[in-house]
Amino acid sequence: MRNHDERVSQTRKMMLIRENRMSLHTPLVRNNFANEMRTLWSYWDTTDNILNLGFPGTLMSNVLKRQTLILQAIARVVTFMPVPTVTFTNKLPAHVHGQFRHPQWEILINENSLNYVGYGTFMALVSTIYRALRHAEQFFRIAQGLACNQLSFPRLSQDQSDQCGFDTQQSAQQMSDSVMLQPALTAQQIATLICIPNSVAKAATRNAEALFQGFIDTARPEWFKAATVLDEVKDWMNTTFDDSDTQAALKKNPNGDDVARVSTCHANACMIDRSHAMEKDAFGVATYIEPQVQMRIGVDPALLPRFGRMHPAFDHLPS
Ligand SMILES: [Zn+2]
Repeated sequence: MRNHDERVSQTRKMMLIRENRMSLHTPLVRNNFANEMRTLWSYWDTTDNILNLGFPGTLMSNVLKRQTLILQAIARVVTFMPVPTVTFTNKLPAHVHGQFRHPQWEILINENSLNYVGYGTFMALVSTIYRALRHAEQFFRIAQGLACNQLSFPRLSQDQSDQCGFDTQQSAQQMSDSVMLQPALTAQQIATLICIPNSVAKAATRNAEALFQGFIDTARPEWFKAATVLDEVKDWMNTTFDDSDTQAALKKNPNGDDVARVSTCHANACMIDRSHAMEKDAFGVATYIEPQVQMRIGVDPALLPRFGRMHPAFDHLPS
C-alpha cells in the first residue's frame, strides 16, 4: 500500500515536472504545435466547405473553419500560461500576418492571410502565430520571474509610465523605489509595471517559484543571446523596459499609432529591429518551428510557395 502511494506521488511529481518544463521552446510544445499546423493545412481547403470539427452537421466556410482550427491549435498548445485572445482583423498592414498586444493579451491575425491559400504564405502565417505566442510567453515569464523575485525591475521611463497609466513620473518613480524595498511584487504591481492584464499577472504569481525554476531549468535554446535561460529573460525585460531601447524603437517607428507605440517590440518592430532581445528570440523560435511544420506536412515550401492545398503534392494529407 505504501509502495503504491509512493508510486502515485512519484507519478504526480513527474507530471508536475513535465508541466513545469513546458515552454514554446521545448520540443514537446513545438511538436504539438507542428501537429496542429498539419491539421490546419490538411483542412485548409475542402471543396464542399464541409468539415466535421467534432460538431456533427456543422457547415462552415473555409475562412471560418481556418479561424476555428487556429483557435483550437492555440488553446491546445498554450497550456502553461493564460491563452491570449485571438482577433481576426482587416486593420493590419497587408504584409503583417499578425502581432501580439501585451496590454490586451491579444493576438491580432490579418484576415487577408486567411484568404490567401499559397503554401508559402501559409508557412509565413504559421511562424507569425508562433512568434506572437512567444511574445506572450516572454511577458508571462517576466511576470513570473518578478513574482518570485528572480528578476528585479529596471527603473521606469516617462514614456512607459504614461502608457501604463501612472499619473506622473514621480508616482511611477515612487512605485519603482518602493518596489525595490519589497521582497516580491504583487500581481497588481506586476500588471502595472509591465502593462499586462491583472488576470495574467495573477496567473503568473501562482506557484511562481517552482514554475519559473522549471522554466529556467529547460535546456538553453541555441539562438539565445544570453548564456543562461535566466539571463535571457533578464535581457528581454531590460531591453524592453529600459529607456534607451524603447525610445530608439519609437523613433524608428514614427508613424506608429497608439497600439504600435505600446507594443513597439511586438508589432512593427518585428520587421524593423530584429536585434532586440525579444525579437531575436521570437525569430529564433519561429525559425526552429518552420522545418518542424514542414516535416509534418512533408512538402518543402521553397518548392511550391504559390501552390494551394489542392495541389497533388498534398494528396497524402487527410481531408
Ligand atoms: Zn515581434
